Amino acid sequence: MQPLVNQVQPISRIRSQFQVGQQINFKDKRTGEECTVVAENSIPSNMRYFFPDLYKSSKPLLALDMDLTLVNTKIGYVKPADIQMTLTQGAARVQYSVVLRPFLHEFLDSMAKMYDLMIFTSAGQLYADALIDRFDKAQHIKRRVYQQHCTPITENGQPVFVKDLSRIGQSLDRIILVDDNARSIQYQLDNSILIKAFDGDTRDNELEKLEIRLKKVYETYIECGNVVQALKKWK
Ligand SMILES: [Mg+2]
Repeated sequence: MQPLVNQVQPISRIRSQFQVGQQINFKDKRTGEECTVVAENSIPSNMRYFFPDLYKSSKPLLALDMDLTLVNTKIGYVKPADIQMTLTQGAARVQYSVVLRPFLHEFLDSMAKMYDLMIFTSAGQLYADALIDRFDKAQHIKRRVYQQHCTPITENGQPVFVKDLSRIGQSLDRIILVDDNARSIQYQLDNSILIKAFDGDTRDNELEKLEIRLKKVYETYIECGNVVQALKKWK
């Protein structure tokens, strides 16, 4: 098997509740070096934040997985679909047929009023960018991170792309991740909402339910300043 890209030591292995700007002492397992992190620019290059200025935002961050959370994509020309797109990948042309999860546009419109929106996908960038450009015409989603930003680990001989929220650049008391894959969220379970995988069913109402919950979470966050506490209150 090909070695996975970006073999970094996740900060969360060393300290799970890493806060932006907080002083932490640790040994860099790659270099053996003793490190102290006091500010984003002193973080070792293999641990740098994806968005070093994000902690200055006044809003909490809502990180959304894409495949099976917001959309259901099939390879080939499959009907019915909301989006059909053909992408050239090397010598190959690949056709994608995409069904959007019901209530997706309303969900994004509503959430953008409260949260900074980000896609955190383990898919490749070419496909992800092409798809986000098509379903987010209102450009509510301001940030995107892809497979190369995930932390690759091996579980039971299978590669798993974990989404390490401590790499993003926002404090963990201000980040929520929504994902259908329990293995992707394993580093920061307290920050995460596991959503039922979207199979393309037009009667699916998970995003409607999620919108109601995330509105309550936001109201509680405004009072207590901590999304982890707010998520515990509104299960
Ligand atoms: Mg997914």
